[in-house]
Amino acid sequence: MIIEDEQSVAAFIKQGLNEAGYEVYLAYNGEQGLELIQQKAIDLIILDVILPGTDGIEVARQIRKSGFTQVPILMLSALGSTRNVVTGLDNGADDYLIKPFKFKELLARIRALQRRHGLVAASNLLSVSDLELDREAKLVRRAGTEIKLTSTEYRLLEYMMLNKNKVLSRIDILENVWDINFNMGTNVVDVYVNYLRNKIDKEFSPKLIETVIGMGYTIREENVESS
Ligand code: CA
Repeated sequence: MIIEDEQSVAAFIKQGLNEAGYEVYLAYNGEQGLELIQQKAIDLIILDVILPGTDGIEVARQIRKSGFTQVPILMLSALGSTRNVVTGLDNGADDYLIKPFKFKELLARIRALQRRHGLVAASNLLSVSDLELDREAKLVRRAGTEIKLTSTEYRLLEYMMLNKNKVLSRIDILENVWDINFNMGTNVVDVYVNYLRNKIDKEFSPKLIETVIGMGYTIREENVESS
């Protein structure tokens, strides 16, 4: 999650992280960020210090106080004095990067935080059971057989596999796979999940895509049948 009020900066970081294979949520102020962390499974927070309303230092303190003691926080700020950096680290940040920064350095620091916190770095080869998705070659295989997908089906599968074992709501899928904010209805999600099932599950066992009634969809490593 990125908490940054300057929309162009936030969009730039989001795009770069998306291209590096990360899923990104944006918050434009501390209050939004504190709400999102309660709602989504956030692995890492990029937090700008200068924010309207509650500043980043206070947001970091509140994140820690509300029980999220382990989520790594990477603080961003144009305020680069030793005192500012120390204040950030003392209030819950795990690392501090001074603006302007090189995007490569941001990515390296994120990877370092992921390693330190036992989070697996975004990989180019995703797998769920015997289903594999190669993000570099854009290839999908099930039990060694190549499966041809349309670009939308591919993005949907990639998003589900990046979030395997998590239940994804239709809205969540719609926003992340179709990348739109207008209301086009979530039926399209059901339609595409169905296309995907026909290709990756229909002729294989176990079935990997699961409908979670009233909640959405998930793709699971072990499809445990409920008894
Ligand atoms: Ca700012």
